[in-house]
Amino acid sequence: MAENKIPYKIYLTEEEMPKAWYNLRSDMKVKPAPLLNPGTGKPLTAEELSPIFCEELVQQELDETTPYIEIPEEIRNFYKMFRPSPLVRAYCLEEKLGTPAKIYYKFEGNNTSGSHKLNSAIAQAYYAKKQGLKGVTTETGAGQWGTALSMACSYFGLDCKVYMVKVSYEQKPFRREVMRTYGASVVPSPSDTTEVGRKILAEHPGTTGSLGCAISEAVEVATKNPGYRYVLGSVLNQVLLHQSVIGLETKTALDKYGIKPDIIIGCAGGGSNLGGLIAPFMGEKLRGEADYRIIAVEPASCPSFTRGVYAYDFCDTGMICPLAKMYTLGSSFIPSANHAGGLRFHGMSSTLSQLYHDGYMEATSVEQTSVFQAAEQFARVEGILPAPESSHAIRVAIDEALKCKETGEAKTIVFGLTGTGYFDLVAYQKFHDGEMSDEIPTDEQLAASIAKLPKVE
Ligand SMILES: *Cc1c(COP(=O)(O)O)cnc(C)c1O
Repeated sequence: MAENKIPYKIYLTEEEMPKAWYNLRSDMKVKPAPLLNPGTGKPLTAEELSPIFCEELVQQELDETTPYIEIPEEIRNFYKMFRPSPLVRAYCLEEKLGTPAKIYYKFEGNNTSGSHKLNSAIAQAYYAKKQGLKGVTTETGAGQWGTALSMACSYFGLDCKVYMVKVSYEQKPFRREVMRTYGASVVPSPSDTTEVGRKILAEHPGTTGSLGCAISEAVEVATKNPGYRYVLGSVLNQVLLHQSVIGLETKTALDKYGIKPDIIIGCAGGGSNLGGLIAPFMGEKLRGEADYRIIAVEPASCPSFTRGVYAYDFCDTGMICPLAKMYTLGSSFIPSANHAGGLRFHGMSSTLSQLYHDGYMEATSVEQTSVFQAAEQFARVEGILPAPESSHAIRVAIDEALKCKETGEAKTIVFGLTGTGYFDLVAYQKFHDGEMSDEIPTDEQLAASIAKLPKVE
């Protein structure tokens, strides 16, 4: 098909939407390392996981062989409210950059949570409801996950308790109100409502919190209250599985026009959008059917892949969660409070960690002022005000497109535009007022938190 026939937006019909999630682990020869019980050091069994997570989600978490898992009809119907999401050809950005590169982005911000997180939230709420639970607890950082989960819980009539990282709770009061609109209760973390929260407050008075602290609190509440389970918006295998809808839709859309990407780029916090976007492409790569350059982009202030170590670590600061083998900065690492761009988690999905370790993907880190420059440049030509998280991917997509300008290569670049930044305007304000700086942890700071990693064989 002629190049100029490719529309600005490639949409799929409802019929073309995926009917099953793709389980990337099924094609991995070296499987991601299992979650370990921190008490025994042994791989966690389904029985041990079921007081924390819903049964069906435990099965998905542990399933590393089934390639496709059917998306229940109720979830597919909910998806139809905000999916398929468009794959956009960034003609305007290309022109502005004067690049021969062809840039596409998959836009996941078209729902009230303003991010891709609703893809997994609705699945997790569905399985909790199906199991007859009363409610779920979770943590949220910037607030997108908490919002997505609140929406999903209100849809299925479940109670939703959200522990929100204190710095975000204070900086983003409007996010909180969106969650309350959907009936969730929102507590700033660390709080004095949990044992672990009180302990963290005693050790670090005045702390602005971290995702790791909030996870500890949410897990404690879920395990102490009958009829409640904990749900997590990233990092876990089950979340990457649900997010595979992003990649499956992207691949179907590209295939419709016979387009083969050269480079696939995504921002990486815990790895869920990236893991979802790349899933079917990585599957082809693992099976030896195709090759792609895949790039994870992380903030220089929280550089798990690029400066972390590949080791077993706790997913939470309170050290009550299972141990996951992942690229990590240490669970006691808390990014500088000056960091405004999300992606604040100290670790990384163990699936992506294994793939990175085995050389199937690259990673790079970018500084926040350059991320906001890219965000602004993008907003001005593509008409979408991007989330700071997503803008990490925009930064690297623009950089790659500019390299093509130098070499004259017309590479095809696909990146994940995970969401919108309307609740991040305080960060945009700092950027516009010239008050944003780049704080990068020193080697000593990282060594100090890495030295506290649990000892596991
Ligand atoms: C949560 C979030 C991210 C980062 O999380 P991942 O699990 O790494 O995808 C990126 N972008 C947006 C908009 C988010 O809300």
